[in-house]
Amino acid sequence: MFLTDEEKKLTIEGCRFCPMCFHADTVAGITHRETYSPRGRALTLFALEHGVLKWEEPAVAEVLYKSFTDGLPQEWCAGHYDHDELIIDSRHRLVEKGLAPEGVGRAASRILETGSPYDPGNGEEVFREALASSTSGAELLVFAGCAGRSLYPASLRAMVKLLKAKKIPHRFLDPEPCCGMPLYQLGDFTHAAQQAKKVCQQIAEARVREVVCLDADCFRMLTMRFARLGAQLPEGLRVWHVSEWLNSMIVKEKWTFEKRPDQVAYHDPSSLARFTRLHEPPRAVLASLFSGKPLEIFGNGGKAFCCGDGGGMLLINPEIAREAARRRFEQACHTGAALLITASPTCAALLSEARAEARTEGPVVRDLIEIVSESV
Ligand code: SF4
Repeated sequence: MFLTDEEKKLTIEGCRFCPMCFHADTVAGITHRETYSPRGRALTLFALEHGVLKWEEPAVAEVLYKSFTDGLPQEWCAGHYDHDELIIDSRHRLVEKGLAPEGVGRAASRILETGSPYDPGNGEEVFREALASSTSGAELLVFAGCAGRSLYPASLRAMVKLLKAKKIPHRFLDPEPCCGMPLYQLGDFTHAAQQAKKVCQQIAEARVREVVCLDADCFRMLTMRFARLGAQLPEGLRVWHVSEWLNSMIVKEKWTFEKRPDQVAYHDPSSLARFTRLHEPPRAVLASLFSGKPLEIFGNGGKAFCCGDGGGMLLINPEIAREAARRRFEQACHTGAALLITASPTCAALLSEARAEARTEGPVVRDLIEIVSESV
């Protein structure tokens, strides 16, 4: 859908001979197997194209769903091949053939029934509190995202506290649908497009002028994938990631904070690191909150490693997702920071869990919006 047949063919040709980005593929790093590297996946697709392998063989789906599709391999690619989009396209072929792992259908059913692929936990209660803070006719809409409503509702609670403290009228979609990002990454384009259109319709009906996304993946989906899935947001609508919006408030509204002395490290969510290239706004917000410059983790900006949830990994291969989170948290520990801050509830959820499971003490994990909200 997103690559032409010629681009797919060239990408398979390019990747199947190439070890250039092996080191940047988190699954290859975890498994130590070339099969789960960009080259291995391209060889799998080459074998399928030439009838050496059959799509029906269970190993095919197993290989193609063990990929974070987080954009990191391409970041190292001198040939600028879009390996991730190739993998997402091949997942779509598996979905169409009815050969995708069970978790894909399960995620779609849950999204259609409950609006999120994750267990709600106490997120439902937090979302009800958020709805209660809404002002009818407000021009600012907050899109909490599935992670904000379930995996890590602390981000949503913090946003509501901040908006109330600053007396900013706001509202939410009720019910808020999943934006479809997990389904797009899992190759279920039909349901992803359905969700995207549902979100567009509800936003149009709400007649708001601005949307602030708490989650980096939702922001990427609304700004970079909706149109290509046939979903049109209202003309003139400004869609922000919360880090950009916070930075704009600091600049335009002259928000100031008492600076904190803590040493902080910043983890770039993949969607901000590579797909939307928002490296600076979260760092600018941190600069207004802390006296020291944020410490950079090994692999930062465009080369940041994934927190573990890229490519729908938490839904299909949770053990790999958690191992990636553990590794990323360990990289953050090496900075010696007291606080590890990220800018997405999904990353905050995975990295907090990694911290809870770590044997050694490490930086306390927080979402950027939590720190801002605490500081007002
Ligand atoms: S994405 Fe680029 S660097 Fe990675 S295997 Fe393919 S051609 Fe090589």
